[in-house]
Amino acid sequence: MNISAGLRRQILSACRRLEVSGLNRGTTGNISCREEDHFLVTPSGVPVDTMTETGVVAMRFDGTVIGHGKPSSEWHFHRDILQQRPDIHAIVHTHSPYATALACLREDLPPFHYMIAIAGGDSVRCAPYTLFGTDTLSAYAVEALSDRKACLLANHGLIALGRDLDEAMAVATEVESLCQQYLIARQSGKPVLLSAQEMRQVIDRFKTYGKHATSSE
Ligand SMILES: [Zn+2]
Repeated sequence: MNISAGLRRQILSACRRLEVSGLNRGTTGNISCREEDHFLVTPSGVPVDTMTETGVVAMRFDGTVIGHGKPSSEWHFHRDILQQRPDIHAIVHTHSPYATALACLREDLPPFHYMIAIAGGDSVRCAPYTLFGTDTLSAYAVEALSDRKACLLANHGLIALGRDLDEAMAVATEVESLCQQYLIARQSGKPVLLSAQEMRQVIDRFKTYGKHATSSE
């Protein structure tokens, strides 16, 4: 088993970027990355400014810790998503303000803007509410993420997925921005939604580009 220092460094750097960008504050939110037959996940209750590379916890898929450390209380959904989505190698979970605000309305993010396609479809679903850190929350998240790279968690926050950490970070950042735009539009009137056909064209275009949509302009 090879636990790489490089991946630990990437996770720590991503945590710092989430803090600087305002997507996370304090000890909320967490990140995981698959590595061979195990995964790395950020520790429980450690603020970013005191988090260290060695503090990132390595876990087996049976839920046991490799070495030492206490994993994030949300390790269940990190483990289950990585296990059930072989296309996904990194997960970013935030309590970012606008995604969380929409999640508190328990609404899906509809196709009000073409960039919704960054999450893989014509909506970002909102998973039902249940207690954090539970297998039930994990099951709700896995279902809401079906054919998607992002979902909201009711009265909780956002989960973003990627084939690598860069993509998961890009999806988290974009979905937070979309939620902000959507909530502003809602305050100003009734957003006009794109049709299923219009969204299909965007999704096809993104596939042709062969990369995620942050470079779609
Ligand atoms: Zn959370």
